[in-house]
This record gives sequence, structure tokens and C-alpha cells, in this order.
Amino acid sequence: MSAKLLDGKAIAATLRDKLKIKVQTRVQQGLSVPCLAVILVGQDPASHVYVKNKRVACANTGILAKDYDLPIETSEAELLAILDKLNADDSVHGILVQLPLPQHIDSQKVLERVLPQKDVDGFHPYNVGRLTLRMPLLRSCTPKGVMTMLTETGIPLAGLDAVIIGQSNIVGRPMALELLAERCTVTICHSRTKNLADKVRAADLVVAAVGIPEFVKGSWIKAGAIVIDVGINRLDDGRLVGDVEFKEAAAIASWITPVPGGVGPMTIASLLENTLQAAEMRDA
Ligand code: NAD
Repeated sequence: MSAKLLDGKAIAATLRDKLKIKVQTRVQQGLSVPCLAVILVGQDPASHVYVKNKRVACANTGILAKDYDLPIETSEAELLAILDKLNADDSVHGILVQLPLPQHIDSQKVLERVLPQKDVDGFHPYNVGRLTLRMPLLRSCTPKGVMTMLTETGIPLAGLDAVIIGQSNIVGRPMALELLAERCTVTICHSRTKNLADKVRAADLVVAAVGIPEFVKGSWIKAGAIVIDVGINRLDDGRLVGDVEFKEAAAIASWITPVPGGVGPMTIASLLENTLQAAEMRDA
């Protein structure tokens, strides 16, 4: 492996330590403890793990997590009523609704019901719009975490040719807006993109968010490129792998993120940052 490892686990740990101090300072100044309402509907096992990790991270940082574990049969109206209550509750600074929601609930309607200033996932059209206009407030956690990691490389991003594979609302699209704001030349690729390998071969920076194990081949990576692997895929043998052929890509890239221990911990650290930011915005 010649690439340097972008160690998300370590970067996130440092970030959490800094946040913990900021939260302590805030409380010593007589300001409120940042509070995040975490809503989980149903029993999806992967969602349970994600939510548990988010709650533990809150506790370790001094952020108060209010848990709402709702049964799968919760109606859309009931969920919206809970959101209305949390929106009106001044002691709650951030609201997180874990996705995916059960089929009978309209996710977009739910996400748009969260007050933009409490939208710590950065999914509300208001917050996406602000990012589009280069005046972000609360930014989507995964792309924000990736940007924090990229800062760690010390490589100036302006002018880089960036290729993002995946155009989802939660990763690909906000990722493109983040990189565009840093003046990368951004290409967004998706399932209908032609000549994908050639596009990746031309990229100084590749972000893979596809959800297909080892989809991006090492032979597609340009020498010296930065490779960010957002994918988390569990194989039949239990192993977790990303969307990129790690070993092959690491042999040619300049920087690469591992899976696990790359983007995942950064997503959670960004959520904590956003919760503190929401509390600070409320006080301002
Ligand atoms: P998604 O299914 O919503 O989107 C996948 C995207 O991949 C789509 O835009 C689709 O067009 C594109 N795609 C599918 N097949 C393709 C092909 N053959 N060629 C090119 N593009 C193709 O997924 P998502 O929610 O954006 O998540 C992507 C991956 O990232 C998943 O593995 C998910 O688990 C992971 N993820 C990780 C984190 C984290 O914190 N690390 C956060 C969110 C998502």
C-alpha cells in the first residue's frame, strides 16, 4: 500500500474530544446542555446499531440524547405530532429521524416537518438550499464529515477534478455541493452514467457512494488520486467492505479511507458538531 490512510476513527476521536470541551465550557458559562432527540421507528437491525452508536457518541461528548423508540405501527400523523412537540420544545436543539422509515410513512414529509434550525441531519430543503447557495448552516453529516477528513490531507481542493459516484439526497448530491463550494470541478455519476471507468480514471478525487461491494476497481484510480469510500456493505461471510477495491486502490492512490473506520465515524462526529451548532444558533 502506498496511499496514506485517512483514519476517520482517529480524526473523529480528536473532534469528539474538542466538542466535549466546548460543551463543558458552554455549561460552565450557564448555557444549556445541547440536546438531541433521536427518533427510531421500528426494529430495523442496521438502524438500531446506527442509533445506538449515535446515542453513545452523544453521551461521551456530554450531549443529552432524548430517545424516542417508536413501534413499527406508529402512524405518520403520530410521528408528525411528536415532531411538532419537539419543534416547540426549547430544551431540544436537534432532531434526528433515523432513516429508512417504514413504508407507510412519507419520509420526505417527515424530514420537512423538522424545523430547519433543528435539522441536524441537514436534510431539510432549507438547509440543502443554503448549501447550494454557498451559505450553509446545518450541513448533511456524511458529506460534512468527508470535507473535515479532506482538510486533514492538507491538499488544496480548489481546481481538483472530483468524481462522485452516487446521486442520493443524503450523500452524492450534498457531497457535490460541498466540493463545488470548495471550487472543485465536480462530475456526478450514477447508474445511467456512460463510460464510468474513464471518468474515474480522470479524477484527482473520487468519492464512492454506490452501495455495491468493491464496485470501483483499483485499475480505475488515477495515480496519486484521493479516494473516499462512503460505502458500507456487509458480505455473506460477515466482513464489512466499502464500494472500492481497497487493496488495489491503495496501491496507486495518494490518500484513501478504510472501511470500516473511515467515513462512518466522521458522519457521527458531524452529527455531534451540528447539534452543538444548533444549540449555539439558538442562543445567538
Ligand atoms: P443510494 O442507494 O440512495 O444511492 C446509490 C447511488 O448509486 C444512486 O445514486 C445510484 O444511481 C448509484 N448507482 C447504483 N448503481 C450504479 C452503477 N452501476 N454505476 C454508477 N452509479 C450507480 O445509497 P446512499 O444512501 O447514497 O448510500 C451509498 C452507500 O453509502 C451505501 O453503501 C450506504 O450504506 C453508505 N452510506 C454510508 C454512510 C457513512 O456514514 N459511511 C452514510 C450514508 C450512506
